[in-house]
Amino acid sequence: MTHNQADVVTALEARNVTKIFGGEVTALDGVDLRVERGETVALVGESGCGKTTLLRLFNRMETPTSGTVLLHGTSVAEGSPIPLRRQLGYVQQEGGLLPHWTVERNIGLVPSLIGWDAERTTARTYELLELVGLEPEDYAARYPADLSGGQRQRVAFARAVAADPDVILLDEPFGALDAITRLELQDQFLDLKQRLGKTFLIVTHDLGEAFRLSDRVAVMRHGRVLQVASGPQLRAHPEDPYVERLLELGGNRA
Ligand code: ATP
Repeated sequence: MTHNQADVVTALEARNVTKIFGGEVTALDGVDLRVERGETVALVGESGCGKTTLLRLFNRMETPTSGTVLLHGTSVAEGSPIPLRRQLGYVQQEGGLLPHWTVERNIGLVPSLIGWDAERTTARTYELLELVGLEPEDYAARYPADLSGGQRQRVAFARAVAADPDVILLDEPFGALDAITRLELQDQFLDLKQRLGKTFLIVTHDLGEAFRLSDRVAVMRHGRVLQVASGPQLRAHPEDPYVERLLELGGNRA
């Protein structure tokens, strides 16, 4: 990727962002982060360090207490959150599928909202089911409760990319799955990532997963981003004792 061209606009950017909940819980404390177009960045760090809060600032599920959050160079605070959310795919923890809707309707949610006709929405839904390895004839009419956890995550991914957003936010997309399913879905993610060529920001507490899936890893602690670098760079030059410790504990598997 070339970063030195003047016309390259950063896909996601947080500038000196602080988020304080209820006047007392500092979830983010002066965070700077840039995710370049076409790049995959993973947010890692222990529970409560602010990963989900940072992710959700980009689609305005959260608003910063101070600082600026930008999508493609424009502040996300401008305009209404609805069109913004349609530009950003979002895979929530546990998938977040609507339980009373079929798989087909869940995947077609955003395309229908933005006015695609039924025929185009169905064609896209079927195409995406194929893409994530679920036979459309078999799965389109099922309800989320009639799927395995791994299948639900595939549907959640299909839903997130349905209207072809440039940027996709994923919050622990493989969190609740057994090790084998997790590896299978990681492989599928890598394949789709290569084919779709989109920008991804992914939350995980698993450093091995972060190294496997992303181009760069942002290590967070206590609401701060300590270091953002590729796996080899982090290993060669950890800039903080916490990063070093984290790598000793969990990073050698990757
Ligand atoms: P996990 O890995 O457990 O999901 P995380 O790194 O994603 O954790 P966040 O969910 O971003 O962490 O939470 C960061 C901090 O902000 C935590 O102390 C959490 O309790 C707090 N927090 C998050 N959402 C709220 C809220 N709506 N109200 C009050 N505090 C909140």
